Amino acid sequence: MKPSPSPHVKLSVKDFQNKMLAWYDVHARDLPWRESRDPYRVWVSEIMLQQTRVAAVIEHYHEFLRRFPTVNKLAAAREASVLAAWSGLGYYRRARMLHAAAKVVAREREGRFPKTADDWRTLPGVGRYTAAAVASIAFGEPVAVVDGNVERVLQRIAGRTISGEQIWQQAENLLDRNRPGDFNQAMMELGATVCMPRAPACLTCPLVELCATRGELAGAEKKSRPRKREIHYALDRRNGSVFLTKRPADIRLMAGMWELPEISRPEDYGEPFLTVKHSITVTDYTVHVWAVTAPLKGEWCAIDRLPRLALTGLARKILRKSGIIPASTTGVESSRSGGRRLSAR
Ligand code: SF4
Repeated sequence: MKPSPSPHVKLSVKDFQNKMLAWYDVHARDLPWRESRDPYRVWVSEIMLQQTRVAAVIEHYHEFLRRFPTVNKLAAAREASVLAAWSGLGYYRRARMLHAAAKVVAREREGRFPKTADDWRTLPGVGRYTAAAVASIAFGEPVAVVDGNVERVLQRIAGRTISGEQIWQQAENLLDRNRPGDFNQAMMELGATVCMPRAPACLTCPLVELCATRGELAGAEKKSRPRKREIHYALDRRNGSVFLTKRPADIRLMAGMWELPEISRPEDYGEPFLTVKHSITVTDYTVHVWAVTAPLKGEWCAIDRLPRLALTGLARKILRKSGIIPASTTGVESSRSGGRRLSAR
């Protein structure tokens, strides 16, 4: 049910801040990265949350920190180990950039993290959003964040499309400077759990009295339909090994990671051994896996090595569903964000 229309109340910044923080104090989800303001942990979580669902990040966050508990350990790790720990989160460029930035912090800054958003932006892979998020949450710097959730909330509150520098300015104007980290997280949390892209729960929203839209903003957020594709992979398992191929080092997506060999649809093989659904960015894949002799290009990989190998999320999913690796080593079902443009809390 939509709230009954009433005249739009003029926005008071203090009201807005108080309502947001009071709501957040009660309703903030209990998420592992909120247990600490340690900049390394906050940074890792922020990078993981970009374009990835919270549930998927939770699965990987603890294990990643267990393997790389400090920035120095991460800096000292081999890239293949970092990619293996990232497997299932997708968007592997993030892992490479995280690793590169860890090396800068460890080797050029003696393990000391930047404290301001401007300084964070000098690190590889750290953009305006991440810099503001880490600086405000870990160091209390009064700097606002804008991600897809914040943008949606601010547009609906204002009742019009706002974009570019204007939306950053609006977020900055509303920021609570005493609790910037909590305020930023409150805005993102509201967008993720109440002011959702479809069917926002306006009746439970702390901002309902201040909101000009109280529902979806007409004309905004037209989500393009995902493309659909069918692909086929060969699963060849013999003598405790599986045949895998390594993606080229110079391609844009998942460079250097291991996967099953892609093949054309085999003739005369009846039904595939396994069919799974998988989403990558804007494409929904139907993936057919055939128990056939693998093509020549690739390597036999021992099954007990697989959990430590930098597998693509899809390869890990297929190997898990085939019972070749245990479920506990698996990644996530899909790397598509739950509607967030930048991070998917
Ligand atoms: S009232 Fe509804 S549309 Fe407005 S901010 Fe709250 S949840 Fe979003």
